[in-house]
Order: sequence, then structure tokens, then C-alpha cells
Amino acid sequence: MCGIVGYIGKRDVAPLLLEGLQRLEYRGYDSAGVVVNSPKSGALKMVKAKGRVRDLEARVPKRFAGTTGIAHTRWATHGAPSDVNSHPHLDPENKVAVVHNGIVDNAADLRAKLEAEGVVFASETDTEVITHLIARSLADSLEEKVREALKVIEGTYGIAVMHADFADRIVVARNGSPVILGIGEKEMLVASDVAALIAHTRQVVTLNDGEMATLKADDFRTYTTSGTQTNATPETVEWEAASFDMGGHDTYMHKEMSEQAEAVDRVLRGRIDDRFSTVHLGGLNLDAREARGVRRIKILGCGTSYHAGLIGAGLIEELARIPADAEPASEFRYRNPVVDPDTLYIAVSQSGETYDVLAAVQELKRKGARVLGVVNVVGSAIAREADGGTYVHAGPEVCVVSTKCFTNTVVAFALLALHLGRIRDLSVADGKRIIEGLRKLPAQIEEILAMEPEIEKLAQEYAGAQSMMFIGRVRGYPVALEASLKLKEISYIHAEAYPASELKHGPLALIEPALPTVAIVPNDDLLEKNRAALEEIKARSGRILAVAHQNQEKADHTIVVPKNEDELDPILMGIPLQLFAYHTALAMGRDIDKPRNLAKSVTVE
Ligand code: GLU
Repeated sequence: MCGIVGYIGKRDVAPLLLEGLQRLEYRGYDSAGVVVNSPKSGALKMVKAKGRVRDLEARVPKRFAGTTGIAHTRWATHGAPSDVNSHPHLDPENKVAVVHNGIVDNAADLRAKLEAEGVVFASETDTEVITHLIARSLADSLEEKVREALKVIEGTYGIAVMHADFADRIVVARNGSPVILGIGEKEMLVASDVAALIAHTRQVVTLNDGEMATLKADDFRTYTTSGTQTNATPETVEWEAASFDMGGHDTYMHKEMSEQAEAVDRVLRGRIDDRFSTVHLGGLNLDAREARGVRRIKILGCGTSYHAGLIGAGLIEELARIPADAEPASEFRYRNPVVDPDTLYIAVSQSGETYDVLAAVQELKRKGARVLGVVNVVGSAIAREADGGTYVHAGPEVCVVSTKCFTNTVVAFALLALHLGRIRDLSVADGKRIIEGLRKLPAQIEEILAMEPEIEKLAQEYAGAQSMMFIGRVRGYPVALEASLKLKEISYIHAEAYPASELKHGPLALIEPALPTVAIVPNDDLLEKNRAALEEIKARSGRILAVAHQNQEKADHTIVVPKNEDELDPILMGIPLQLFAYHTALAMGRDIDKPRNLAKSVTVE
């Protein structure tokens, strides 16, 4: 959601910044802008536009040279998407330029105060108050001006600031929105996401909340908002620049779905211990004694990560026999939850920056809880805030809707469940059985992906539906929830998921020929129960598409997926439904990688 890129060095900055913004497009935005300094006069030149980065590019004049600049993609929170509300925001004298991700909570008060002092605002944004505060500061240095402004601001921000009178530097600050420095050779970059840096450097420094940095072409330093120097050692990013390209696929979603076997292989690699039929998870920071003391597990995530958490909770209960449940982090943080010292909390987030999850983690830590993170992006806020955890190693996920990261997160939960199980009750034989099942996953995922042509045909058949019902029972229910979310996110078809067991307690009233049902029907101990549900739907002339381990007579169509261990089946059963959602959306001509109204990492409340 929204993005920042900045550069200071020797290169012509505008093309570099525009390319960086394109790398951030996947996060979702509604307008974009860029400011550069004139090499001779130091004066600031700005272009901004509502719409796509390519609309901005079209407006950049021929003469737009500069070697320092900052750029932004905006996700409007205060003031509609428009040219003037786009960032950067300049002061009336064109001295100060600010780009900002986040929200200034006390913007209305600050605006009123500034207006009373005679300031005229150009835009409706909250961000513009930051510009005026910096421009009006009497401090001697840019760092001090920014610091003074931040002192009066409440809210979240990642900001980058340029000043015509301090043309040798960019000053940045972070509180709640990611800011990452890219350390180059005689050039420095800054961005809200490594995706925008990786073409230029692998050396990065991720700022902490409350930290600021000054970037000069050949030097950088970090310090707190109160001025104390901090120690920032650059880390090396392992992701390949090519992982951010489409690699011959028509969409990122297609590319990422097709990478799932490989991705699962990566999350398993080096972790399985055949000798003790268990797995090792390096960064958990939870020794065996502590793990045995855990009485409950509570998993927190949002959207798809919440659904991965639901499957994770099921796996933990089954394999480790620890009571576990999942809850949307966005709800949890607002209901003054009882924080229990014997509960282990697990925060799930692809980006590791999801604001609602991060806020829940911070609240939990304040109350003394132990929190683990299950995240994809190494070094992200949640990874750093948590006491330990595991990375899911899905590689960069660019499409707004999550596919390979969801699958890898669930596999990571299976590993955690096995690990916890084996230091509690789970037998060697069961440990072995699960390990064998895990090893089978990549090949079975390939088998499912090879069914794409068949699934595409089915999708075309169902694409006309106004609405769809997804059902599953126990292990299958979170699969139904996730499949229904995927379908609505990218096709905009209304979909709801219900436990199959709840059908006759209400939703059966909806069943009629125009409402197809997608049913998750694994060959496990609930098979007969699930068949009974299909029977009930058929009796009301409902159409049924089953995802099952064998052909289902009551269904109009069955997608037959390979069978794994009962506990691991949910990992596989969702994959054909990703393809189903994809081809449904494609048949309806949707913008698959950028579904309307959605953003990749939701870094605001
Ligand atoms: N709150 C700011 C605005 O509405 C920044 C939004 C963003 O993060 O892009 O302009």
C-alpha cells in the first residue's frame, strides 16, 4: 500500500525513480509524483498526477535532470485521489518537498493552527502539514527541522524530505510505515519496499520505528528522533531482482501460483530431522522446556494470513494437542483481549508490515506476552518485533492476492506443529508419517498445477454465477474460506464460505440452481458427513463443484486432487481453487494482479 523511492548520487534520477515506482505498483495506489533538484540551482522541480505511474511518466518534461530526488505512489487517506493531493507536497516557496506513507492523526488540529498563523494549504492531505511544519522551522539543520516537525505529529509515517537549501542530503524517518535504506557505491537509495531497491543494491538497512536517517551520496547515518546516534549495519538481501519480473507469465498471480512446488521445497529445505522424526526451526527462540509449558496458542493474521492461521491452528491441535485458534488481528487488537502468560501468540503476515498485525504484536508485547512471527519478508517490522519465529521463504510475492505465500505459510505451520508435537505427545511413527507427507507435497502440487486446462474449462462454466457458496468441514472449512476470499478478491463474484455442518442451520435456504456450491470433500473420517451435505444440496437442485480425492457422484464436477496425510490435505485442496479463481477472473476480464480497491500490504489501519 503506497510507496516511497528516493535517490541521491550521480545518476539521472527521474528515470531511476520512475522505474522504482513501477516496482512498487503492485502494492496498490491511486496517484504518483516525483520531485528532483536542479543540478545547478538546487531548485526543486516536481511533477505529480492522479492515475498510474505511466500517466506520471507521460507528464515528465524533457528537461527534468537532477541527481537527487524522491518519488511516491499514494493510497489516499485524507483527500480524494487528485493531482494536487498527490505527493510530493511542497511549501509555497518550493524549498521543502515531502513524501509520506501513513496517516497524521492530529492533522486537523495542526492544519487549523497553521491556518490561524496564515498558512495557505494547497491540498486536502494530512501530509501537507508536515511540509509546512518543516518549512516554518527556524532550526539550522534539515535534520533538526524534521525532528521539530515530528515532535508535534501524532500518527504513522514513513517520510522522505528534500530541501533546496540542503541539497546534499535526503532526510528520512519512520514510525509505523517501512523505510529501507539501500546502500550503494557513491549513491544511496531509500524505499518503502526492497522491491524498489534490488535492481541497484543488495545492501540494506531497515529503519526501526522512531529512527531517522540522513542520506548523502557517499554516506549515511541513522539516529533516533531524539537525536541519539544508532548503529545500523547493512544486511544483504537474498531475493533476486528477477523474482520481481513476470518471467514469461501473463500475470504475477499466474507466475506465483506456478512457483508453489519450488517454494514449498524451499520452506522444507534443511529443516527435516529424520533421525528424531521432527523438524528444526532455527529462529523460534523457544526451547523444549518453554514449548512444553505452552498451554494455548493464539494465531493472529488478516485476510489470507488469517486463513492460513486457521489451518495452522488445526494442525497444531491435531499434531501437538495444544488448544489453538486463530483470530483476525484487526479484531483482536480492538477488543482488549485477555493476555495470558501461558499462551503463545503467533503473528502471521506476508509482508511482515501489516499494520493491524503489527499493532496486535505491539499490544501483546506491552502486556508481557511471548509472540512468534510467521512472515515472508526477512527483516520486516513484525519479524523484528517478535520474540522469534520462522520465515516462510516463499520468495517475493507481487500479486496483490496471496497464493504461494499462503501455501508456504500453511506448510510452515505444519512444521511448527510437528516440532511442538514431537516434544510433547506425537509418536515417532506419526512424526515419520507427517514427514513423508511433507516430502510428497512439491510433486503433488506439480500434479495439481498440471490440471490447469481442466480447471480453466470449469472456471469458464461457472464464471456467469452471481454468487457462490463454499463449504468444507473441520479441516476443509478454512480451505473453503480461503477459496471464497480468493474468488471474491479477483473476480468480484460474491462468495461465502460456510462449515458444511452449518448448512441446514441456515444457508440451505439460499440453495437453488443459480447458486453453485464449491465443496471440499477429503477422503477422511468425515467423508460420509460431507457426502450427506452434497446430497442435501442436490435435493434442492443446487449445482456442485467438488474438490475431492475421488469422483463425487452427487457433484456436477469433481476436481480430483492427490491424497496426502489427512492432516496435510488442506495444504493441497486449496490450490486447484486458486486456479479456479484465477480463470474465473480471467474469463470476466478482471485486472488480476491489481484487484480494485485492494493493496498488497495494508500498512494503514
Ligand atoms: N495520508 C497521506 C495521504 O492521504 C498518505 C497516504 C499514503 O500512505 O499514501 O495523502
